[in-house]
Amino acid sequence: MKIMHINGQDVNQVLYINLGTHNKWRHNCIYNDNTIRLSYVEVDHQLCLAAKWTEVEEQLKIFRNGNKRVITSDKNQIQKFYQCGEDTLWITFFMQKLWWCFAKKEVTQRTDDTTKERAVIGKWSCDNLVGEPLELKYFNQEIQEFRCQQTICELKKFKPNIVAAINTVQSPKIKDDFLEDFPELKNEKQEIVIQRIKRFQDIVVQTKNKYNNCCQFENCGFTFKKHDGSLYSEAHHLLPLSKEGSQAVDNIVILCPNHHRMLHYADVRIEDFENNRRTVKINGESCYLIYK
Ligand SMILES: [Zn+2]
Ligand SMILES: [Zn+2]
Repeated sequence: MKIMHINGQDVNQVLYINLGTHNKWRHNCIYNDNTIRLSYVEVDHQLCLAAKWTEVEEQLKIFRNGNKRVITSDKNQIQKFYQCGEDTLWITFFMQKLWWCFAKKEVTQRTDDTTKERAVIGKWSCDNLVGEPLELKYFNQEIQEFRCQQTICELKKFKPNIVAAINTVQSPKIKDDFLEDFPELKNEKQEIVIQRIKRFQDIVVQTKNKYNNCCQFENCGFTFKKHDGSLYSEAHHLLPLSKEGSQAVDNIVILCPNHHRMLHYADVRIEDFENNRRTVKINGESCYLIYK
């Protein structure tokens, strides 16, 4: 998997951050302050800014009873917080969702409690790029069970998965629609499939908007409101790839769940396109897809 950027921003690394002891700042950082925040109040802010890490270690020694391993680990985490660039993807888990952000380079010290913070670029988000929630249950078991035992942990192994999920390719509904229409792709290389799903997804978002999520079958037009207020619809490839169907926009139709099932399971014949209307015979009966 090679998709290592989000909205044009390259992702150099993925760091998990616990926001405060027992995550006590998490709610504030995410909803109010738009920050990432680090405790370590015993460490001098100016030393960290000046990157005097040996002296930072000296300071830590006083508080850690000289435990070398712990001191080095603490120093490394502080160093990450101060020095990681704006191409670092910061994530944290909250309310059964994966939250992510990028943070500005500048580190400031809070005047109230001398903790350190970095402003988030834009906002913390728990959605992928098409606005679907990044529920932890959509991720693999290993990611779901991951717990960061320190303040900051690097997630090398999970980086491709997480970046892909934010880029929406793991959106389960679209992925299911796609693989259902193109089962022959299940054996293809993951990388190619992901690229295809991503392209499909871009077209789907445009097309769903164009039809306001309403079923394209004449006299249907069904949609319904989801709990988040947005409208529900499904996308379908009229002609499967195996029958020379293309991935282009004119091969995608927006359907209600019933009509989508029918096209997959009934006896279906795709017929002529004329005057912005395509005839589809379902179990011998003529139905019409209306195009805008
Ligand atoms: Zn379909
Ligand atoms: Zn319908």
